[in-house]
Amino acid sequence: MSRSLLMSVEEAIAALLAMAQVQRLQDSEPVVLGEARQRVLANDLIATLDLPPWPNSAMDGYALNVGDWTGEPLAVSQQIFAGVAPEALLPGTCARIFTGAPVPAGANCVEMQENVQVLEDGRVRFTQPLSVSQNIRPQGQENQAGQVLLAAGKRLGPFELAIAAAQGCTHVPVVRRPRVALLSTGDELAEPGTPLKPGCIYNSNRTLLSHWLSALGCEVIDGGILPDQPQRTRLKLEQLQHAADLILTTGGVSAGDADCLGQVLRECGKPLFWKLAIKPGKPLTVGYFGNVPMIGLPGNPTSALVTFGLLARAYLLRIQGVEDVTPLSFMVNISFDWPKAGNRREYLRARLEEGKAVLYPNQSSGVLLGASWADGLVEIPEGHTLQAGDTARFIPFCDLF
Ligand code: AMP
Ligand code: MG
Repeated sequence: MSRSLLMSVEEAIAALLAMAQVQRLQDSEPVVLGEARQRVLANDLIATLDLPPWPNSAMDGYALNVGDWTGEPLAVSQQIFAGVAPEALLPGTCARIFTGAPVPAGANCVEMQENVQVLEDGRVRFTQPLSVSQNIRPQGQENQAGQVLLAAGKRLGPFELAIAAAQGCTHVPVVRRPRVALLSTGDELAEPGTPLKPGCIYNSNRTLLSHWLSALGCEVIDGGILPDQPQRTRLKLEQLQHAADLILTTGGVSAGDADCLGQVLRECGKPLFWKLAIKPGKPLTVGYFGNVPMIGLPGNPTSALVTFGLLARAYLLRIQGVEDVTPLSFMVNISFDWPKAGNRREYLRARLEEGKAVLYPNQSSGVLLGASWADGLVEIPEGHTLQAGDTARFIPFCDLF
């Protein structure tokens, strides 16, 4: 296959995102904070509270008005613990105060307890220079009521959920889960827990992808294993198209005789593109079956992993309204030579050792162990040769989930 017939990774991502724009999910639902992780915020989260709600002490110490301080010791007129509403400070006195407690009206400074002398009669001598506002966290320092804290389209992780909790929210409005029908194809596949006949292998893609889909906020509809039979394939797709926002399949999209999924899509559906300038993952196939988008990942586990992580993931985030779907990446030095330029963009399983990318020794697309060994993918652009010490882009796995 000449390079000109292969679609570039950029073009494929652009086509998928254009498709996602049309398929954007409109419905939302309130979800309790404890279950909202990995979901996408449907509306802006607007602060109802100033944070902090009142000026409070950053230290255990003594609150006073700097104007009252002459160098003479001050009497302690009240104790203010976190969680109480203080009286106004009596002029000419100080208040014992603890971290997080409201600073009383009339005080404009907190001195830490380590810097004072407590006299036998209980009065307090301030021994260090004092300044206005010292050790006081002002009202609204973090945010003010009315401010947009998180914009619609934000993926919710522990930080975002804690920000919502700090406003007193019990629930957040999130985009409904995309329903993804997951289908494994191949006469050779058996599910774990069933006997393995000669010539067969266990289905690993289903486990890989169902966990990954859940981590991206999706509801998985398990379509099971489909044999390599065009008629059964067509019937199954017809059945799933009414239940799902996306049909996601593995296997059956390369050029072999048994690869009937691509064939059925071309005959009964609307293929948008297949054959990508990517390695592993060239047979990735995208289109519509009826009105339902379909992404056909190649069957080799690492090909499925790379194409799901770099392409299908972006699609699934974008239909939920996430703007920035580009995974985190950065340039690293490589510790290997790449003497032969390829005509496809290559993604190699690699580990970072002292900032340098080291390759897993077996880069076969059938080997899943390399993905577990690795920290992420090194990207080798098409048409490039590289030498040890050169730089290449690295995409860590941790940002892909
Ligand atoms: P295919 O894309 O159908 O030609 O499959 C390519 C390779 O991936 C073959 O060696 C298949 O046996 C293997 N394969 C396909 N589907 C799966 C799966 N669900 N789990 C593990 N290996 C698979
Ligand atoms: Mg197959």
